[in-house]
Amino acid sequence: MICPSCEYEYVDGIKICPDCKTELITVDAFEGNLVNPSDWVILCTCKTDYEAQMLKSNLEGAEIETLILDQKDRNFPTDGDLTVIKVLVRKSDAETAVEITNDISEQSKNLEED
Ligand SMILES: [Zn+2]
Repeated sequence: MICPSCEYEYVDGIKICPDCKTELITVDAFEGNLVNPSDWVILCTCKTDYEAQMLKSNLEGAEIETLILDQKDRNFPTDGDLTVIKVLVRKSDAETAVEITNDISEQSKNLEED
């Protein structure tokens, strides 16, 4: 279950978001609630918020609208490995977004080599 306004995911059994009192919906419904779900594709998945936010700011710098779907379960924190953060872009932007993503990973490779 997920809060449509905070975008945090909660365990089964919780029906109202503890933070904002909004009624929770299923993750499937949430993803289906995107303005035009068929317009959006998953660009990649990230393991950390930092990675996802960095990618988002790069993409938005190129005027590509970016959505982050955080699948983290805050009630039962696990050791990062199970966390999946999906980065979504519009289908029409996907090609450019992939190029930007590749550029970023090239750059970080170069940095590591230095
Ligand atoms: Zn909420």
